[in-house]
Amino acid sequence: MLTGGKSDSDAGSQVRTGPNTDYESPFYARPARQNPNMTLPSNFSTGVGVSHSRGPSTHPYIAMTFDDGPHPRNTPRLLDMLRQRNIKATFYVIGNSVKMYPEITRRIVAEGHEIGNHTWTHRNLTKLSNSEVCREMDRTRDVIVSATGVQPRTMRPPYGALLTRQRKMIFKEYGYPTIMWSVDPQDWKRPGISVVRDRIISQTRNGSIVLSHDLHAPTVDAMPSTLDGLLGKGFQFVTVSQLLTMQGRAQ
Ligand SMILES: [Zn+2]
Repeated sequence: MLTGGKSDSDAGSQVRTGPNTDYESPFYARPARQNPNMTLPSNFSTGVGVSHSRGPSTHPYIAMTFDDGPHPRNTPRLLDMLRQRNIKATFYVIGNSVKMYPEITRRIVAEGHEIGNHTWTHRNLTKLSNSEVCREMDRTRDVIVSATGVQPRTMRPPYGALLTRQRKMIFKEYGYPTIMWSVDPQDWKRPGISVVRDRIISQTRNGSIVLSHDLHAPTVDAMPSTLDGLLGKGFQFVTVSQLLTMQGRAQ
């Protein structure tokens, strides 16, 4: 017997569309510190300048950058760590790896991170002709667009190697500023988790662009304590484009 005047056929009208306040997400050890929501503009102007290794030192904003991914195990693990802390980072991806792992590349973008062009083959660009450099940029841009629907807006040269004339050419042809870094923990040499963490935390200043590599498992292993340490020192994480937009305004 129906007691509430409701039959199964009414079930569709009973769907709740308001906040699901009864729901609690499954338990995980939530980090103590969270990055605040950084609703800063990221539309840097064409006058921003060709090369950058840091942002303005007037605010405690920093940009974490992760190169040489996506990697099938390390990148998803890193994305979980970033999500738990509400941190948005910038990923300089290799085109050939995007082709192999388009779904991971999509996840990078879907979770609010920025994506940058790190070439197709990771060669030293100073040894290549302009047309070979453009081929590296084009193929990588196209595979990123096809995987994610968004365009990269900056580039980072493999090994940091790019001639001044090449930087100008890429800026003119693609609008990509060349993004270097101001903090390099040399994590690719795998010096150990605590060394990577201590180098990053001790060298990071207002406006720093921090270089690291999600290709390497020990680097990702170092990230929880590194990110928590940086948050503990009062730094706030932004993407490279957000940092560049501030840079443009400071000039
Ligand atoms: Zn690289």
